[in-house]
Amino acid sequence: MRSPLPDYLTEVLEACVDDSGALADYIPELAKADPDRFALTLVTAEGAIYSVGDDDTEFTIQSVSKPFVYGLALQERGFDQVLDVIDVEPSGEAFNEVSLERNTGRPLNPMINAGALAAHALVLHGRRPEEAVESIRSLLSSLAGRDLVIDEKVATSELGTAYRNVALANLLRGYEVFEDDPDEIVEGYIRQCSVTVTTKDLALMAATLAAGGVQPVSGEQIFSRDVVRQVLSVMTTCGMYDAAGDWLSTVGIPAKSGVSGGIIGILPGQLGIAAYSPRLDEHGTSVQGVAAFGRLSRDMNLHLMDAPIVAHSVVRRKRVWGEGDDAVTVLELQGDLQFTSAEVLVRAVVDEPPATKRLAFDLSLVRAILPVGRRMLLEMIGRLHRDGLEVVVVDPDGHLPEPDTGYGFRPRVYASQDEMEARS
Ligand code: GLU
Repeated sequence: MRSPLPDYLTEVLEACVDDSGALADYIPELAKADPDRFALTLVTAEGAIYSVGDDDTEFTIQSVSKPFVYGLALQERGFDQVLDVIDVEPSGEAFNEVSLERNTGRPLNPMINAGALAAHALVLHGRRPEEAVESIRSLLSSLAGRDLVIDEKVATSELGTAYRNVALANLLRGYEVFEDDPDEIVEGYIRQCSVTVTTKDLALMAATLAAGGVQPVSGEQIFSRDVVRQVLSVMTTCGMYDAAGDWLSTVGIPAKSGVSGGIIGILPGQLGIAAYSPRLDEHGTSVQGVAAFGRLSRDMNLHLMDAPIVAHSVVRRKRVWGEGDDAVTVLELQGDLQFTSAEVLVRAVVDEPPATKRLAFDLSLVRAILPVGRRMLLEMIGRLHRDGLEVVVVDPDGHLPEPDTGYGFRPRVYASQDEMEARS
């Protein structure tokens, strides 16, 4: 059988063809794009890639770079310093609006240009300008999983007409939002916006955010979970500028658009999506891209608020081995252990206590354990131990590296059920 997914995505592209909208022309070089290009790529958090249309067409990343550079600033400077400089409130205004907090001059959020310039300044501070741009290019490259280059022609073209960004950067400097030279910041920011990408690159970047900061193909942890959570929160409320509310209620996928026609969307824990088509609507967002996202969200139940119930399947199987005092109840767990799945597990043990003296939790099929899942599991093991049960863990992937229950008891850990059987 051939996977139906590429056929479905091709159908979506065909259904969303629309020649309304106009190319961005305030950056002269962007007005040279082929207006009919249209591409759509999906990358799952597991790294499966589905891609259709003009997915080899390269375009400059523009504002889609903003969430990633914000993430880099958070990672390098820490939350306190970044939040001091850039707020996280939606501005409800266009991307290039001169909207700063009254009195302090603090940009309202990192998705509008004022905040993105300040995020670039945070990355730049203490570095030479070329080093800052290089660290951004290299971050975007690891997110995409290939070496990306800067389109110097687009950068030069934008620099020639960057009146608003120059004004904004000077205003920010005037408010002492940063101390570095505003011209260096504008130039660095514009070069950051001129990194060239395809929808495949963007979808991989988006999928990295969907997968809690782990690039799904290379397996590299690029952003910490905390940084990802912050970046996605800000994208949800501010990513689509003055259309953020409409976008969240109708499409429901945290997203970021750019004036060259790219859009990324992230469904946390599930997938990253990228669309490209250069004709823009009045918000500066790709017309066909918006249509494709809307269609995908509706057809595939991708709206964030349309969440599946994931907890109930945590206990894959419960079985009992051996007889008499040697008998052991094995609870084979699966999926992700977060709060609600750990709660299902606790309830399973409380409502139906094991009839044996020995109990094993087998984590072989557990994909990830959040800190709350780890705490609840260890607490449960400690309490069961206090009740007189002998509890062990099968944990081949090392989900519980230091299984300290806080009850003066550490359960024995085995790599497999076979090993557990052989050793007991
Ligand atoms: N480099 C563009 C600017 O600052 C990016 C804007 C966008 O993509 O929304 O004007």
